[in-house]
Amino acid sequence: MSTTILQDRFGRRIEYLRLSVTDRCDLRCTYCLPKDFKDFLEPDAWLTFDEVARVVAVFARLGVNKFRLTGGEPLTRRNLPGLAARLSALPGVKDLSLSTNATRLAKHAHDLKDAGIRRLNVSLDSLKPERFAGIVGRDCLDDVLAGLMAAKLEGFAPIKINMVVLKGTNDDEIDDIVAFCMEHGFVLRLIETMPLGSTGGKAEYLDLRPIRQRLQQRFGLLDGLVEGGGPARYLQTPDRRFSVGFITPISQHFCETCNRVRLSADGILYMCLGQNDSMNLRDVLRRGATDADLENVIREAIELKPLKHDFREQPTKIVRFMSQTGG
Ligand code: SAM
Repeated sequence: MSTTILQDRFGRRIEYLRLSVTDRCDLRCTYCLPKDFKDFLEPDAWLTFDEVARVVAVFARLGVNKFRLTGGEPLTRRNLPGLAARLSALPGVKDLSLSTNATRLAKHAHDLKDAGIRRLNVSLDSLKPERFAGIVGRDCLDDVLAGLMAAKLEGFAPIKINMVVLKGTNDDEIDDIVAFCMEHGFVLRLIETMPLGSTGGKAEYLDLRPIRQRLQQRFGLLDGLVEGGGPARYLQTPDRRFSVGFITPISQHFCETCNRVRLSADGILYMCLGQNDSMNLRDVLRRGATDADLENVIREAIELKPLKHDFREQPTKIVRFMSQTGG
């Protein structure tokens, strides 16, 4: 019988699975997906809800207790709250969260909360309607804000705002987004662009270290901690009412503490966002594997987890877009 722990060759404990439920998205963020991108998976390539639930149950038995639904845009997959309800009821699933662009969140917030999702990450790169449309490829800031307000009313906590900082495009708006998050009680996370696919490679990268220093001084921020399994390093106001995290894969990578793997919508388990090491779990599932077989394949896969990404050394290595791996 297996021990209930997953550990890689470098002694890192794996306790977090990010689950993409679709590679499709209703937005085309400049740094993520090309405007004319059409090369999506056919839906029959996606893992079914039964298959996702099986994989999650096996991971949970291996001691993984945090799961995040992502994509693509997960709310474009039909009956996502139904899947969430199934997953959150599985033994060992302690924390189920969702990443969304919030265009459809107003409609689904209530059902998602009922389904056992407690924590939400919402992408928001600008509060200026025209600029927002320029970044995401659609005029839909009002829908996103309505989604956020619906989520706030439902009582999701924490709600984290993910802002990808783009040099010369939205870096002048950081203080406005700080003010917006302070007003609404949202946690802010500032993210450096990664060279994922042609889009990520061309993105307007900005080193966030000077921004961190400036915000620390301006708001008198102190080191802090915020709930979640992620890599952000946080600062907080002394009263702890506002937190801002910095996700700096390029300027200060955090690979040594990486605790996660990612499952794409078609069942490929990726060991690292910035490397190609992977294992095809869909083939294993569809060959009629038992849970014990699946457990063994997952353990073998974790052995492949690389030490670190090579975003700096080999910036053109990863041709997958973020939405294809699962963001
Ligand atoms: N649609 C959901 C959303 O908007 O959060 C989930 C998927 S999205 C791919 C997940 C996150 O990846 C978003 O916060 C997005 O901004 C970020 N992202 C996409 N491409 C990126 C890149 N090249 N570098 C850094 N972050 C990226």
